[in-house]
Amino acid sequence: MRKETKEMLKRASIIDDHVHLSVHAKSRAKIEELDRSMVENSIDAVIALAAYFPRKTGSITNEQILSLTKNYDNIVVFGSLDAENNLQKGVLELGKLLTEDRIVGIKLYPGYQFVYPNDKKLDEVYELAAKFGVPVMFHSGLAYKSPGGIRFSRPIYFDDVADKFPELKMIISHLGDPDIRQATAVAHKNPNVYLDFSGLVSNTTKNQERSEKWKRKNEEYITETIANVMIDLMGTEKIIFGTDWPISSHKAYLSLVDSLEERLDLDSKEKEQILAGNILKVLGVKK
Ligand SMILES: [Zn+2]
Repeated sequence: MRKETKEMLKRASIIDDHVHLSVHAKSRAKIEELDRSMVENSIDAVIALAAYFPRKTGSITNEQILSLTKNYDNIVVFGSLDAENNLQKGVLELGKLLTEDRIVGIKLYPGYQFVYPNDKKLDEVYELAAKFGVPVMFHSGLAYKSPGGIRFSRPIYFDDVADKFPELKMIISHLGDPDIRQATAVAHKNPNVYLDFSGLVSNTTKNQERSEKWKRKNEEYITETIANVMIDLMGTEKIIFGTDWPISSHKAYLSLVDSLEERLDLDSKEKEQILAGNILKVLGVKK
């Protein structure tokens, strides 16, 4: 990681590990909007994720996301690849980007690309990440639009990867929803596995056209679910703050953290772990 990136991250009190950007004119995921939301909500740094969705729209390549974010020092990038159709090409490209210090992690999308995380063919991606000491983040669980193969991103498959690559830091995004207890078990068992709770609260894809009553009920349910994950893990060491912006808003997620703080009597150290400490650990940045 570049020295100035490391220094920026060390100073950050709130880091969102999970945001999306788009190159499409009609998309809400615009860099200026992201920047505005970060300023408004005091989000100090974010991780923007490249995405290759050969089966649906919404892709953003490594070069596209790097070009969009190049003038924003507080936005760092996780690279990605099309593991389903162009694995070799992707591995070469990610290797080059890691050598050049342009990305700080890798994001994989089992469920949108129909590849199981424990498929042997992905080993070279994990070896590459381990060699450079960068984390691999996985989309897990629900795929909101077809074609999406939920079975490919069940948390249980991450366990094999965690076992095989104990030195590799892994993030299971979205708590493995709907298999949340399974994801919790994988994080509990494996010292190298962390969970982010992005995309669950006020998820606009899920909430579309719902009444306020059901949105509120859903939010209460999700808040309780996330609190229960921490109770299940008996601590905050494995939990990472992430939003899935613009699918969920920074505002909704900051108020979620306030609710969790109240509900679980989080002390300042525990809150700090969730908001920044744990992701810094995963990124290998020492405060
Ligand atoms: Zn996401």
